[in-house]
Amino acid sequence: MDYTEKVIDHFKNPRNVGELKDANAIGRVGSPSCGDKMEMYLKIEDGIIKDAKFMTFGCAAAISSSSVATELLKGMTIEEAKKLTNQQVVEKLGGLPEAKIHCSVMVEEAVKAALEDYYKRK
Ligand SMILES: [Zn+2]
Repeated sequence: MDYTEKVIDHFKNPRNVGELKDANAIGRVGSPSCGDKMEMYLKIEDGIIKDAKFMTFGCAAAISSSSVATELLKGMTIEEAKKLTNQQVVEKLGGLPEAKIHCSVMVEEAVKAALEDYYKRK
């Protein structure tokens, strides 16, 4: 299986890992096929994502997808984050093997779950 250099970089040095203590939006999702589990933490203020962190237990594609997603999310408005697609994540990674695309879909789902959580808390 061929991973791009970008995927390997984000897998070895993932950005924004850990629990975000003052998160006000948390999304938890899992993918049964790889056994990946992902938690996405967002801190939203005035409609803007001020901070984003994640904890992912999973394959290299899941971890690198989560990592680039947090980079993309920081500074986004809620509206922009709602429209974040796995395709944007895959592009940022320079591509993912076909069999691993679903791991980036999981990131999209985690973001959507976090935003739902945000609205529920309000
Ligand atoms: Zn996976």
